[in-house]
Amino acid sequence: MTNCLFCGVAAGTIPADVVLRTDQVVAFRDINPQAPVHLLVIPVAHYRDAGALAAADPLLAGQVIQAAQSAAELQGLTDYRLVFNTGEHAGQSVFHAHAHVLGGRSLTWPPG
Ligand code: 5GP
Ligand code: ZN
Repeated sequence: MTNCLFCGVAAGTIPADVVLRTDQVVAFRDINPQAPVHLLVIPVAHYRDAGALAAADPLLAGQVIQAAQSAAELQGLTDYRLVFNTGEHAGQSVFHAHAHVLGGRSLTWPPG
């Protein structure tokens, strides 16, 4: 999709600190980390949010979660939080489905 930041990351036209890439998914460091390890995992294909992704392609949604686990392990994490902000009022600001992988410190609950 044109004018989508994360489609640009997936295509390699927007620079990113990529930690894991397959033909289907990309994991890269968040530009504004909220924890010592803060990765974003995206499908290469564009879906506006995690719900749309899971509805259209459940296999790909699973691949995003598997990539999150692999990327966390590559960063030395055993414990991490996986977050899909879905919708503006839930904090979603980039409307290309993405999982946040947060770890490297103790995380409190509930989130803000
Ligand atoms: P959301 O708020 O949609 O759940 O998450 C979007 C995330 O993308 C935010 O954590 C934000 O810091 C990150 N982000 C925004 N622009 C860029 C960018 O150009 N590069 C990278 N690596 N992360 C970005
Ligand atoms: Zn996109």
